[in-house]
Formats: sequence, structure tokens, C-alpha cells
Amino acid sequence: MSDLLLSDDEILLKNTVSDYSKNELAPRAAGYDESALFPWDNVSGIGDLGLFGLTIPEEYGGSGGTTRQLAIAAEEIAKGCAATSVVYIAHLSLCTQFINMFGNEEQKRNYLPDLASGKKIGAFALSEPGAGSDAAAIKTSAVKSNGHYVVNGIKTWISNAPEASILVTLATSDTSKKHRGIEALIVESDTGGIVTNQIHGKMGVRASTVGEIIFDNVLVPGKNRMGGDEQGFGQTMEVLNASRISIGAQCVGIAQAALEAAVDYAIHREAFGGPLSDLQGIQWMIAEMATEIEAARQLVMKSASLRDANLPFATEASMSKLYASKVAMESAHKAVQIHGGAGYFAPTPVERYFRDARVTEIYEGTSEIQKLVIARNILKKQG
Ligand SMILES: Cc1cc2nc3c(=O)[nH]c(=O)nc-3n(C[C@H](O)[C@H](O)[C@H](O)COP(=O)(O)OP(=O)(O)OC[C@H]3O[C@@H](n4cnc5c(N)ncnc54)[C@H](O)[C@@H]3O)c2cc1C
Repeated sequence: MSDLLLSDDEILLKNTVSDYSKNELAPRAAGYDESALFPWDNVSGIGDLGLFGLTIPEEYGGSGGTTRQLAIAAEEIAKGCAATSVVYIAHLSLCTQFINMFGNEEQKRNYLPDLASGKKIGAFALSEPGAGSDAAAIKTSAVKSNGHYVVNGIKTWISNAPEASILVTLATSDTSKKHRGIEALIVESDTGGIVTNQIHGKMGVRASTVGEIIFDNVLVPGKNRMGGDEQGFGQTMEVLNASRISIGAQCVGIAQAALEAAVDYAIHREAFGGPLSDLQGIQWMIAEMATEIEAARQLVMKSASLRDANLPFATEASMSKLYASKVAMESAHKAVQIHGGAGYFAPTPVERYFRDARVTEIYEGTSEIQKLVIARNILKKQG
């Protein structure tokens, strides 16, 4: 494959992950969607390919890759199995990158190697029953006592929570300080007082298990806090900004899978004496999907390039997530339409893509929150 916009290393990575995704992830995706079981064999395969430590420095067991490489890997994994890409992104892009970005030397040495190899699964615990978009309103408390934080509260809808060993957990040391009271703690999930309950009944990405985590007087060593006082919220926003690039890439993967399924169906399905693909109405849908997917992909890669060049990227990252999630939804919608009645039923993958795409407009900042971020940044620049 040649690609004017990718380096040789990036093309090699894309081809490697694409082959794995096509041969291993895609054939198992429908089964995992039905069973909603955590995809341990996919996790093990991704670990074998070294992808869990893709952006983690080599000294901590990773391969020191770029944000662009992470975007390439996330897109290809999502194309084969969106649920597995959620597991991957929550693990690497949220939990592991948080520790890599804000952990001290001891924290990185302690936690990154097992996360980078996939030996341990990570989760990122921010959302609560009463605080999603309004992250500064979290109530989970972290009270300092004798060199520890005593953590109490409930987190909800946390991806990977039922399987995770390491929980990057956001908690407040003082609710009256609002966002300034928030601390970022590395919590080992086998610490006494933690109960995790899997939440069932998801619309899509069903094999990426989510859980509620109850913290009942959990003692977290003081040395497990990342950074200094009043830094947890800012750290969280920085990690989410970066991770939105991965979600954008995930959306492109889902959309690309929908496009390819639609093209295949249109070529093989006959109507009015010829294939659907001869009909102009169908061709227009395919042209729109392909154009929008390519635009979304380039926006994602631009955000990743900006981040890799240490340039401001938050606005573009939000644009990537906002636009790519819309494209994923619309591509899945058109793919179902091109399949007609067949697209409404499980044997065709497009009904799954349609359900999988929906969450991308919700998690890691809803579309409304992305618009808020984009508008604020633009208004700030011109004000
Ligand atoms: C499958 C799944 C996996 C998840 N994984 C994780 C995870 O790993 N870790 C984690 O911490 N969380 C996770 N979440 C939670 C997710 O991040 C939140 O659901 C999301 O941030 C939205 O919060 P909320 O659900 O409380 O909605 P709310 O904040 O209550 O919002 C409800 C609606 O109001 C809109 N709204 C809110 N505020 C504004 C505003 N200021 N302006 C305009 N509109 C607004 C929203 O856009 C939305 O449409 C997950 C959620 C799902 C569904």
C-alpha cells in the first residue's frame, strides 16, 4: 500500500494491525457482541503485537511511539471490533497515558511496565452517577490521613472496571474548592474496600465491559497521588484532550468498516435487473461516506501531528471527536440503508456498527461538550 501522507513506519504499523484486525478481531466481533464477554483473546493478541505500550517510552516497557501511531492502531482495531478498541483506548489512551504523563519516576516504574505489556488492565475512573459532563462536580472523596488518602464514593460506567487491576481514580480532597480540590490517584483494584459491579445492557460496544466501582473507606498510599496539590483536574483535561484523538480514530475505523460492508453489499445485491451499485442514489451515499470518512481521518491525523509536534492541539482534538463521531453515526446509518431490510438484522455487521457508533457521541465528552470546548477556544483566541 502506498500513502503520500504516512511514513514507511506508519504504513508498516497500519498493515500489521490491519491484518490482525481483519483476520482475528473481525471474525470474532459478532460473537463478542452477542455474548458481551470481555474479549480476553483479543487483549492477549494486542499485547503480543506490543500495542498496549505503543506510546509509552521504551524504558517503561513500551515502544515509544507517536500519537499518530496510536491513531493508526486505534482506527484499525476499531474497524475489526469496536468493543475491543474501547478496551484498548480506556487502557492505553486514558489510564496508562495518564500515569505516563503525570506519574513520577517511582509511579512510572511501578505501574507502566505491566500496563504496557497488557499483563495488567487499566481503567480511568472519573464519571459518577451525579457527575459526567460536569466533571468538577465529582463527590468521591479523598481525605488525607496518616500518609494515606481515605477514598469514599461511587464511580459509574467505567470501561474495563470489572477486569482492571489499576484504576486511575479522580477524587476530591475538598468539594468546596470545586475543580481545584480534585486529586488523581493510582488505585490498585484489589485494595480492601473496593467493590466493582458490572453494568449490563449496553446498546453497543457490548464486549467492552463497564462497571460501577464502590469505594468504601479505601486506603490509598499518599505516594500514589500524581502531581502536586490542585493539579488533578487540569491533568484530567489534558489526558481527555489527547484521548479524543484516539476516539476520533476509533470513529473512523467504525465508519470505514460500515463503508466497506455497504460497498460489498451494493456490488452483490441485485435490484431492477442489476446490482445496487449501478443505482445513482446508492452511489451518492457511497461517495458521501467515503468523502466524509477521509475528511475525518485527516482531521484526526492533523490533531495527532500537532500533539506530536508539541503544538496546541486541543481544539483540533475536539473537532476530530465531534466530526468523526458524526461521520461514524451517519456512515453506519447509510450502510444500514444500503442493506435495506437485511441491515436491520444481526447476520449483517452493519446493525452492530450502527449500535457501536452511537456511544462515540457520548463518552469522553459528549458532542455538546466538544462544541463548547471548540467555541470557547475560538472565542478566547479572537477576544
Ligand atoms: C459505554 C460507556 C463507557 C464509558 N466509559 C467511561 C470511563 O471509562 N470512564 C469514565 O470516567 N466515564 C466513562 N463513561 C461516562 C461518560 O464519559 C459520560 O457518560 C459522559 O461524559 C456524559 O456524562 P453523563 O452521562 O453524566 O451526561 P450528562 O452530563 O448528564 O449530560 C446529559 C446531556 O446533557 C448535555 N449537556 C451537559 N452539559 C451540557 C452543557 N454545558 N451544554 C450543553 N449540553 C450539555 C450532554 O451533552 C448530554 O446530551 C462511559 C460512558 C459510556 C456510555
